[in-house]
Amino acid sequence: MMAVKLGEKDVMAVSLYSKEGNPLWEQWSTKSVASTLRTYSRMTFDYPYHKAISVHAPMGMEYPMICFNFGRPDKEGNYSDRTKYGMIGVIIHEVGHNWFPMIVNSDERQWTWMDEGLNTFTQYVAEQDFGKWYPGALSPNDKAFPSRRGPAKNIVRYMGGDQDYIAPIMTKGLNTYQFGNNAYSKPATALNILRETVMGRDLFDYSFKEYANRWKFKHPTPEDFFRTMEDASAVDLDWFWRGWFYTTDYTDIGIKEVKRFAVTGTPNENGKRLAERYNRDPKSLVYFIEEGAEGYEDAIKTNASIDDLPTVKEYIMDNFTPKEQKEMKIAPKYFYQITFDKPGGLVMPLIVKFTYADGTTSRETYPAQVWRLNDKEVTKAIASDKEIVSIQVDPDLETADVDTTNNTWPKEVKESDFDKFKEAVKD
Ligand SMILES: [Zn+2]
Repeated sequence: MMAVKLGEKDVMAVSLYSKEGNPLWEQWSTKSVASTLRTYSRMTFDYPYHKAISVHAPMGMEYPMICFNFGRPDKEGNYSDRTKYGMIGVIIHEVGHNWFPMIVNSDERQWTWMDEGLNTFTQYVAEQDFGKWYPGALSPNDKAFPSRRGPAKNIVRYMGGDQDYIAPIMTKGLNTYQFGNNAYSKPATALNILRETVMGRDLFDYSFKEYANRWKFKHPTPEDFFRTMEDASAVDLDWFWRGWFYTTDYTDIGIKEVKRFAVTGTPNENGKRLAERYNRDPKSLVYFIEEGAEGYEDAIKTNASIDDLPTVKEYIMDNFTPKEQKEMKIAPKYFYQITFDKPGGLVMPLIVKFTYADGTTSRETYPAQVWRLNDKEVTKAIASDKEIVSIQVDPDLETADVDTTNNTWPKEVKESDFDKFKEAVKD
């Protein structure tokens, strides 16, 4: 056992195991309990009891202050990474149940996700902490604790699977297929994405803590969780709860079209016609010429900048954030109109990576609200002083996008195994 200081109090982290559990149990059980107490107390409220006990057993099961956990080496004391990580993970999970649903006392049979989902999410945070606090527990090839549930990419297979066997998270546990994915993995992943990609850690953690404190020793329902997260953060999350918890929609966002434009004060034939139609002096206007149209190459060569073109500057400034407007001062020369489409039902922030001709990159995150007036597609105007050579949506796989073949421009052509086979046969 070891004492864990939580606020003014010492809590005993305790392990009970037979010698057959060693060397795993003597090394990692008590540290896992202690680490759980620290992370969960930070994310919610201090563990209110004097002791937390982990008992070596054939399976994982939670009770107030005591839980039973699996993970045993073979007779010679050898064990795989899977056994080690599985044991640490299950201890964190079962100790974590003291908070959800035992103290924040939701109804497990009615809303399984409110304890398994919230607990699995906090387990993920605790596992990542554990890997940092006890790097000696990690295998040489692992830079971080290899959490099974929580990372966005791990839920893709489930969410992109056969819709006949997927139920919304809000479905009563007894009535769902794929119980583990439905009640544990998907809500844990949703909350992880909400924290890392939608709200940011500060806002999320503040609101999550507020929920736990408001509802400790009480009986919250899903609305209490949803409302507290919105109320404490002042962020409208209706769209997020609706998509992730009440539907079986998945994320799929892609790049539908990219148009390139050059800007010029010299009208082409089309520009002259337009000026005539609106009875304006053609020289008083500025023109965007789409790639491929007459005058595009010339316009690119004249190196015109938006600063030389006050009319167009005023017009396009409305399309950009203050930050982007500030960058406008660098006299952009390349103009793009990018249409993103959303074949998937889920609304998600639009995370975009731009790669420039000189090899540098930049990233923009457009909030989920870009979809508010059009759920199918959204168009962004981009001005740049450097030529953009490629664009990628969700470059770090943060949104659980189920189909990444439409995430890049120009489209990445991947040779199929069949094509490779045909090539091989030809030789
Ligand atoms: Zn559980």
